[in-house]
Amino acid sequence: MFNLILFGPPGSGKGTQSENLIAKYHFKHLSTGDLLRSEISRKTPLGKEAKKFMDKGQLVPDEVVIGMISFALDEHPHAKGFLFDGFPRTSQQAEALDKLLELKDTAIEVMLALTVTEEELVTRLVKRGETSGRTDDNNEHVIRTRILEYHKKTSPVAEYYARDGKVVNIKGEGTIEEIFQALCDEIESRMRKSEKS
Ligand code: ADP
Repeated sequence: MFNLILFGPPGSGKGTQSENLIAKYHFKHLSTGDLLRSEISRKTPLGKEAKKFMDKGQLVPDEVVIGMISFALDEHPHAKGFLFDGFPRTSQQAEALDKLLELKDTAIEVMLALTVTEEELVTRLVKRGETSGRTDDNNEHVIRTRILEYHKKTSPVAEYYARDGKVVNIKGEGTIEEIFQALCDEIESRMRKSEKS
């Protein structure tokens, strides 16, 4: 199994690049943002609870997203690898993920972290809000809250994986193709290494 985390602040391009990576490598895509939006559109109790946080730009409580990921992992016992997108977003989620993967006798191979300047992030998210229909992209105050949450709670997750030498920074500005190529180069070099070991 080859599992990776695509990491980066809101608007860094995780969704776009995930789609490209899935098409090329056939990982199972686990996006907590997508899973939560699906719960909201189906009006489940979990969705109703999550929406209160998401509309304000705040993170949904850890136990909710960890439960969701645990369920999703069990649903795909034969996956050749998972691509985590938007998860883990707190140190507690990272610890929980490591434990869940350990139970499956596997681990995170690499965290690819997209780096984008703050002003570029806000510009992209405001623009996305004009067409995406996502309520959390429609309001600059909510966007700024999401970026603050990222700095406060999510960036420590990169430090967590950096301790094991698993983090690689990739410049998230440039053309979509250039960024995709940089991600693929890194994945393939890691795949070769993990095949050897
Ligand atoms: P973006 O990366 O653009 O913020 P996402 O679709 O990943 O978009 O997330 C949208 C919202 O869903 C977040 O602002 C947060 O409220 C919630 N969310 C998604 N993933 C998580 C997570 N792992 N932990 C807590 N909240 C999450």
